[in-house]
Amino acid sequence: MARPLFAQINLAALRANLARARAAAPGAKVLAVVKANAYGHGLTRVLPALDDADGLALVELDAASTLRERHYTRRILLIEGFFEERELPELSQRRLATVVHNEEQTAMLERAVLPRPLEVFVKVNTGMNRLGFAPGAVARTCERLANAPSVAALRLMTHLSRADEDDGVAEPLAVFEAACRGLPYPRSIANSAGVFRHAEVGGDFVRPGIMLYGATPFAFDTAEMLGLAPVMTLRSELIAIQSLKANDTAGYGASYTASRPHRLGVVACGYADGYPRHAPNGTPVLVCGRKVRIAGRVSMDLITVDLTEVPEARVGSPVVLWGEGLPVDDVAAAASTVGYELLCALAPRVRVLTTEVGRVDLEL
Ligand SMILES: *Cc1c(COP(=O)(O)O)cnc(C)c1O
Repeated sequence: MARPLFAQINLAALRANLARARAAAPGAKVLAVVKANAYGHGLTRVLPALDDADGLALVELDAASTLRERHYTRRILLIEGFFEERELPELSQRRLATVVHNEEQTAMLERAVLPRPLEVFVKVNTGMNRLGFAPGAVARTCERLANAPSVAALRLMTHLSRADEDDGVAEPLAVFEAACRGLPYPRSIANSAGVFRHAEVGGDFVRPGIMLYGATPFAFDTAEMLGLAPVMTLRSELIAIQSLKANDTAGYGASYTASRPHRLGVVACGYADGYPRHAPNGTPVLVCGRKVRIAGRVSMDLITVDLTEVPEARVGSPVVLWGEGLPVDDVAAAASTVGYELLCALAPRVRVLTTEVGRVDLEL
């Protein structure tokens, strides 16, 4: 038998989460964000579940080209834009829309002679201070690009740094509004957190990412509260059981000491599979559908859990590391990170199984 670890990808849940995004942002075009191999889920694998999206947004040019080779015909937006002038003919031939966020890209577009002009999203820096034009430079940039023969259509976009916080959108939205005043181009503002606040944030195109995969963009609202279903469930089994006496330790560095006799379950999953090594003692894991706790340091191929609460557990008992029954956000919180990082980090050696079924009993 094969090593029992695998990631189950529930396409029905992905479809339901996409419908949730559409319902939350009525009237907006939905660009499903599929960067980082669809947040670790596998871009070509999840594509059939994204039929209802108006387009896709991602960072990687090679992945965008693969989508065209697979006859994906809708809009594809490169959200970091291009990096070198010699990439522009490929963008043009593949009909890829691009973000333009700096002066260098603007100048490259002005010089370019392309077979077909590009759709360009001009990015405004509204306080994130990573990518984007200063608000005062936006009108002039749009004017230059509108006059460039390599540009077919302009849109305005920004990325909010605190869309997940109650008081996080008013100020950047005011900055965006002022920067774009009088410019007659469609706009794109919202990520997942912004989609859930569409009435306030608005925009003609929305760019949901994490919500599509069933994790929460917020610190306090859980995925379940938001009506999102987990898409990835990381499943394994117990492959050994040890009986610890009081004061026995477990794992490298003996970072866990049993305070009383109990059984220790050994799970086939470790940091080489993408499980976070820094997940401390106490991080939740499901064994036989019941919540148990990590006991001992996460190692490359294995983790160990306290089986006190699951007397029926045996070698071969089912384990869920995250997904159905155990939100990835809960595991992430225990490991001081976010669901995004855990999903994106799924390692290539983990087998993946795609299903259409699963518990998708959501109210949309
Ligand atoms: C990643 C990304 C998104 C999606 O963000 P989520 O929080 O995953 O919804 C949207 N817009 C841009 C520019 C991004 O880089």
